[in-house]
Amino acid sequence: MSEGVVIVGSGQGGFQLAASLREVGFNGPITLIGEEPGLPYQRPPLSKAFLKGEADAEHLELRPASFFAEHRIELAAGVRVAAIDRAARRVKLGSGASLAYGHLVLATGARNRPLAVPGAELEGVFYLRTLADAVALRARLSTPSRVVVVGAGFIGLEFAAVARALGHEVTVLEFAARPLGRAVSAEMSAFFFAAHRAMGTDVRCGAGVARLHGAQGRVDAVETADGTVFPADLVVVGVGVVPNVELAVEADLPVANGIAVDEFLATPDEAISALGDAASYPSRHAGTTVRLESVQNAADHGRALAARLVGRPVPYAAVPWFWSDQADLKLQMVGLAMPDDRAVLRGDPASRRFSVFRFHERRLTAIESVNRPADHMLGRRLLAGAPRLTPEEAADESFDLKGLLTR
Ligand code: FAD
Repeated sequence: MSEGVVIVGSGQGGFQLAASLREVGFNGPITLIGEEPGLPYQRPPLSKAFLKGEADAEHLELRPASFFAEHRIELAAGVRVAAIDRAARRVKLGSGASLAYGHLVLATGARNRPLAVPGAELEGVFYLRTLADAVALRARLSTPSRVVVVGAGFIGLEFAAVARALGHEVTVLEFAARPLGRAVSAEMSAFFFAAHRAMGTDVRCGAGVARLHGAQGRVDAVETADGTVFPADLVVVGVGVVPNVELAVEADLPVANGIAVDEFLATPDEAISALGDAASYPSRHAGTTVRLESVQNAADHGRALAARLVGRPVPYAAVPWFWSDQADLKLQMVGLAMPDDRAVLRGDPASRRFSVFRFHERRLTAIESVNRPADHMLGRRLLAGAPRLTPEEAADESFDLKGLLTR
């Protein structure tokens, strides 16, 4: 690989790949190109500690500037890759310059799905993906506001918890029948619905947003499909993301809900791979192709790809896991469940410490835990193998889960 590895996207996955390449002994040039300014940083605190004012931008940096120099990682920040010339093995930059690659990695992540209703362009409507988004939003949270959050996914609910803790009036409008509907069991949704209501947030499900109203260019209300109007000084939209696949599409690489890669994170072009939020890959755990949006997924993809690029390919099979902090509730999830997978409760939700074990027929597929990190950690080990836990054992609090590891 005479021209070295060029990584497009300096987020969680792109950064991890660069760092892991050096860890596994890759000696060639590494160029990490990122459209955002500054050093690579972690996004999770943007909707948590950073927004609350408990962490500053420097605390989010994945490594200090010296790390990149010491590890000979050329960081091109504030630089956009505009196109890929596969025949010449070069990328074209936004400036018009071009750069040769031996291997190209698309770690382009995802961007917010825009709210497609009249009024969405009004001032006072915010999204939360980048540090710049979070800086703008944090500044707005210094004045008491009526906040309407559109979307009860993880980011919407994390933001709602922070906004309530800061004393704002908060309404969450969710189009679907329950919060976190795409991600967790109905039992876990019900728990978070009740928990946010208990925090004083007005959570409405089945409430699709039809339009935003404003005066002098500023948003002042949100109207739902049934004609209900919710006054708002500030609207935060969290209605999901779309993967950044345009470079791949224009380069004629296959795309299907993400840049399509195989279990080695390879595209059909042997000189191009993709990873993280942008990539869809065949998952051993789901038994189908998935595109996941999590730190674990992006970072483990980075590690797996680094190993392949130094000649040690192993099919990607890491156990997927995820977390979300909402007020004093730490939700941790491990594994991948299908919507119809059975839910078995372990512990009492009223104690705010419990888990939901998911089963496909009698096979454990995932564990969702609230304030029970031991269940989560155990789940990571169990799901890495072929767990032999029955639904009856999962429901029995006296059953020793740890014993399973030696069974
Ligand atoms: P990203 O980190 O998004 O990085 C992609 C980068 O590529 C971006 O900087 C983008 O600007 C750049 N890029 C795109 N196109 C180009 C181009 N053409 N040229 C140059 N650069 C380009 N996950 C969890 O597991 N737990 C959490 O609690 C959690 N909380 C989150 C909270 C927030 C507010 C957000 C936004 C995300 C959260 N996530 C969480 C998700 C997690 O941060 C992402 O899954 C992870 O960052 C994905 O890494 P990535 O490298 O694939 O993409």
